Amino acid sequence: MEDYVIDMGKVTNSSGRRPSLYSINPTCAYFLGVNVNRASMSIGLQNIKNEFVSIELDFSFVLENTPESLQELCNIINSFIDDGSVDKRMIVGACINLSGRINSIEGFSYNYFFSENRPLTEIISAQLGLPVRLENDTRAMAYGEYKEGIVDGEQNVIFVNYSWGVAIGMITDGKLYYGKSGYSGEFGHSTLFNNEIMCQCGKLGCLETEISGWSLVNQFKNALKEGKQSKVKLTDSSEALQHHAIIAGAINLEDNLCIELVTIQSEKMGRYLSIILNIFNPELLVIGGDFSKLGDYALLPIQSALKKYSLGLVNRDVKLKKSSLGLRAGVIGACCVVKEQMLSTLISN
Ligand SMILES: [Zn+2]
Repeated sequence: MEDYVIDMGKVTNSSGRRPSLYSINPTCAYFLGVNVNRASMSIGLQNIKNEFVSIELDFSFVLENTPESLQELCNIINSFIDDGSVDKRMIVGACINLSGRINSIEGFSYNYFFSENRPLTEIISAQLGLPVRLENDTRAMAYGEYKEGIVDGEQNVIFVNYSWGVAIGMITDGKLYYGKSGYSGEFGHSTLFNNEIMCQCGKLGCLETEISGWSLVNQFKNALKEGKQSKVKLTDSSEALQHHAIIAGAINLEDNLCIELVTIQSEKMGRYLSIILNIFNPELLVIGGDFSKLGDYALLPIQSALKKYSLGLVNRDVKLKKSSLGLRAGVIGACCVVKEQMLSTLISN
């Protein structure tokens, strides 16, 4: 027991027998959070008080659906642990966020590294020598904002991960909503447009075909072909990073084409988010992901479209805010998820 609590001495300013004060020993347990994007990843290690002892944000990693890419991912995580100051035996679990369909209970990932015979959690756990949980990236980001970010007591929250792809995370009555198998939140693959554009999921006309980082890159390239001018050059070798240049072009260069394209997208985003508002009646709508860096360039068109397209009473209930955690949302959410899972396992045993 003495490993888990610290004797902080006696309370001084109380009458009668002075009570002892105890605090949780922050070094008694650590939790590892890993957020994997298509062209980058972030890792953080938190103590039991949710304080980071080490964190590396947004470093280059190309996610490919191959055994080699999985091995590289495990090697990076192992190096991060080995290079840190915390004894690996003190890390009680890791949570790894991936995009797409994730069944956290059974430990399967269906979009990346799927193996019919063995849960991905088992495969990674064997490599790391740690208990591993998988989480959908957007759901983890939503939970990060709920526990330590922009959420201020609201219990019914919709978080929008507006990035290369688009998905939502839902908090209902203070709990993450998973759906039957954990596949909830695939807002980006709602078929909304008759545009005959093929989505990354293989279907035609999904929301992402007009509202997403990858569609923004296509819209930008098409506009240049049509003769429009821009100061921005898409020089990034990884296609999955090119939308960052357009977002930065709007913010830093006030580039007209970049601003025009993100405004059109954000108006459409607001229009289709109004459907989500009408269905869920949330208290708070959080815009997160890469597009949240745009601030008012994204939020004002979204706000205006929400007002125009959602029901008045529903719209009056909801506050619209941008993520306060930014790049850290996924890692913080992953640490919170694995901590709560491990502690609830301990308590139930
Ligand atoms: Zn799709």
